[in-house]
Amino acid sequence: MSGISGSMGSWDGGYMNVNCCCGKRAGVRISESASNPNKLYYYCRDNKCGSFLGWCIPTNVNSPTSNSIGEGLEVFKANLSRTIAEIKEELLKINEETKKLHVKLQKIEAILNQMKNCMIIILLLLIVFAVKTP
Ligand SMILES: [Zn+2]
Repeated sequence: MSGISGSMGSWDGGYMNVNCCCGKRAGVRISESASNPNKLYYYCRDNKCGSFLGWCIPTNVNSPTSNSIGEGLEVFKANLSRTIAEIKEELLKINEETKKLHVKLQKIEAILNQMKNCMIIILLLLIVFAVKTP
């Protein structure tokens, strides 16, 4: 995609294609929010990595002093690392939950073992009574 002009007129460049966290090409949408109207942003086509991955990175940088590509990349990287941090946090929570569940499971197994022992004793008592009674 290149040559976006249209109503804005002055814009004659394109935007960088970027890959999503899931490895696929990120999709592009136009923002309709009040704070950033008509701004292009990347989103995950499979809806796996989120509906906002960062603002689109323009490819035509006319002035050599401009570092908007670098800035865009930095924003994208920041968004990525934020997503990764969120996933790590979720993983930690899941790990903790798993540990808690494991402890609960061990308790339940201990109770079950006790019940099994009780059953054996009751069965033995029943057999003894059954043998004693004529
Ligand atoms: Zn994705």
